[in-house]
Amino acid sequence: MDLQGIFAGCTAKELLLEEPMAKHTSFRIGGPADMLAQPGNEAELAELLKRAAHHAVPVTLVGNGSNLLVRDKGIRGLVIKLSNLFSSITVDGNVLTFGSGISLAMASKKAASLSLSGLEFAVGIPGTIGGAVYMNAGAYDGEMAKVVTSVQVMDRQGQSSQLKADELDFSYRHTALQNSGLIVTSVTVSLQPGEAESIKAKMDDFSQRRIAKQPLELPSAGSMFKRPVGYFAGTLIEQTGLKGYTVGGAQVSTKHAGFVVNVGGATAKDVLQLIRDVQDRVLAVQGVQLEPEVLVLGEE
Ligand SMILES: Cc1cc2nc3c(=O)[nH]c(=O)nc-3n(C[C@H](O)[C@H](O)[C@H](O)COP(=O)(O)OP(=O)(O)OC[C@H]3O[C@@H](n4cnc5c(N)ncnc54)[C@H](O)[C@@H]3O)c2cc1C
Repeated sequence: MDLQGIFAGCTAKELLLEEPMAKHTSFRIGGPADMLAQPGNEAELAELLKRAAHHAVPVTLVGNGSNLLVRDKGIRGLVIKLSNLFSSITVDGNVLTFGSGISLAMASKKAASLSLSGLEFAVGIPGTIGGAVYMNAGAYDGEMAKVVTSVQVMDRQGQSSQLKADELDFSYRHTALQNSGLIVTSVTVSLQPGEAESIKAKMDDFSQRRIAKQPLELPSAGSMFKRPVGYFAGTLIEQTGLKGYTVGGAQVSTKHAGFVVNVGGATAKDVLQLIRDVQDRVLAVQGVQLEPEVLVLGEE
């Protein structure tokens, strides 16, 4: 497939060929995307999608790659990365609308600078706000479901529409966006007026707790498994004696057993083997089936 020819003249920045996805994931793992593009606005995104649809090029969407495990053979077709090029902000009282490529850190800091409360929980989550809505990301009793009022989406033919929060079917790490093919282009949140100092104090507290408990010094994709009802995945893994369990360059973090870290040169194959081993041992010893939270993409 002549991707260079198909997308020639597209104004999206950086049409990169054979781009290693390891450069675009927080795990620092993943083989090459045939082509990776970073559109800066809706018109550029629509143009990419229309040409891809016309030529039957498969499209994979990524944000900041912080909840992804990309397989070692990489991703066929076009990867569209909605990065900080896609990061407009509009303010209307306590209602903020963010371009979906803006980082959660930036979004929560913007809210804090306006003395608006509700996004403090998001300060240390290393994703984009679009990826966070898709995943219904959350922490410390906050989650996207509690603040989002609507999203602007684009379908794979480049057509835009709006979805209200009640159409998104939010639940734990789930939304109706998953497997819908829809791309979130902007996110509107409604926040509460608050005190700048207490908002900042809350954000600092959450950041400190992460530094103390999470292995932020090593590449990972955050919590590897969803929280099973009534348990904590990290505690179950630790109680099964798997803290520090290693396959190749992938390791159950010695700091927080809910994280799998890349201690150097880990492949997706290492991580997938480690996931299976952890699932098998935890099921055998604790009788609980762990489900991955991290999404696996790419060619086997
Ligand atoms: C150190 C660390 C700590 C973390 N802590 C937390 C935490 O506390 N809570 C939590 O919930 N998560 C946490 N995560 C996981 C991750 O940061 C979140 O899931 C985040 O919301 C993912 O956003 P992203 O932009 O990186 O999405 P990606 O990982 O790039 O993509 C995730 C999924 O979202 C889709 N997607 C991305 N952008 C869009 C869009 N604009 N429109 C439609 N679909 C889109 C992708 O196609 C993919 O299927 C952590 C990760 C790390 C590495």
